Amino acid sequence: MPLWKQIFIALTLGLLLGISLNQSGHGEYAVSLKPIGDLFLNGIKMLIVPLIFISLVSGVTSLRDMATMGRLSIKTLALYLGTTAVAITIGLALAAVFQPGVGIELGSAATVAAAESPSLVATLVGLVPANPVAAFAQGNVLQIIVFAILFGLAITLAGEAAKPVKVFMDSLAEVFYKFTGIIISFAPYGVFALITWVAGTYGLEMLAPLAKVIGVVYMGCIIHAVIVYAGLVKFVARLNPVRYVQGVIEPAIVAFSSTSSAGTLPITMMSAERNLGVSRGVSSFVLPLGTTINMDGTALYQGVCALFIAQAYGIDLSFAQYATIVLTATLASIGTAGVPGAGLIMLSLVLTSVGLPLEGVAIIAGIDRVLDMARTSLNVVGDCAVAVLVAKSEGQLNQDLYDTAHVLKSTDLSTQAHPS
Ligand code: ASP
Repeated sequence: MPLWKQIFIALTLGLLLGISLNQSGHGEYAVSLKPIGDLFLNGIKMLIVPLIFISLVSGVTSLRDMATMGRLSIKTLALYLGTTAVAITIGLALAAVFQPGVGIELGSAATVAAAESPSLVATLVGLVPANPVAAFAQGNVLQIIVFAILFGLAITLAGEAAKPVKVFMDSLAEVFYKFTGIIISFAPYGVFALITWVAGTYGLEMLAPLAKVIGVVYMGCIIHAVIVYAGLVKFVARLNPVRYVQGVIEPAIVAFSSTSSAGTLPITMMSAERNLGVSRGVSSFVLPLGTTINMDGTALYQGVCALFIAQAYGIDLSFAQYATIVLTATLASIGTAGVPGAGLIMLSLVLTSVGLPLEGVAIIAGIDRVLDMARTSLNVVGDCAVAVLVAKSEGQLNQDLYDTAHVLKSTDLSTQAHPS
């Protein structure tokens, strides 16, 4: 059975089990499964730092020249920013139409402090790691990316003398892909445990009062994925969108149950390369960057929640305030870490920018995990869409791999299948 089916079955069974445990008042049994989920997540997290570094070095050395790297960066950033702005607009539009906040009773909620946004200069200066070992130890993805790109360029520039290093890095990359395959084969168990835990802890009653806002966020995520991503894949990259959907199922479900796009990264990279035929040169650059700066789901959610809170407090927003939300939510989503719940903290930044009451954050907090599941999936699926578009435009997409309904099997991670 292909891996995605196993993961999908695990997700469904976990949901059913969790809800029934909760309904029958035995939520604590669901909680006892959480360590199994954490074990799986630790397994993936274990791979992130070495995998980003090794595959990016191997990827950069396969691109050969700096001009390609420059073009890749520009296309990637433009697509990331463009799709994010569209995502918030969809969120705002849906919230304006469905008005999830109208008629919501807001009790006296806890006071919440606004998040501080780091300054642009500090962010840029911080991109270059003064101590690469510290960057690795802290798992600072952007710093690791910078170090890996420069290291890869140095290997290329050193030419013949660096040949053994290049061969070694390529070989190490294969080892890490196999390693990822081993961890991914445990995904069904991890997903089952995580979803049972979430469903068992939340139950249905807790979600009922805010069902409308949940519905709007989920609807927005589906619309964005189907219209924007599948649309771009079909009309811009001129590829079959159904294959794209098949190819992103595994990372989408793992993101859904783990609510961490950074934590899903190894699976996202594996799927982009093996299912969608994206070359390692593109996937190893576009995807780690995407998990750090591209958060369409988070941006969409911030749009919906900002408007939800405005409606709940009976505050009318002006056109300029809508524009401010689009701008700050784009920036906030760039600054959001790909970890559970990070988007909620950044929501306070968006609310502050238009003077909405921060207490709104406390209301959303009660159901945030459920919203996080949808937005994290969209974040990951969006990174894959951009990877496909960039790869296609650069002639770095293996069409045969893309066209075969090749869905990842844990036993099928042979190195021969690799497109690079
Ligand atoms: N959990 C999200 C992610 O990892 C970030 C967020 O909270 O919005 O992509």
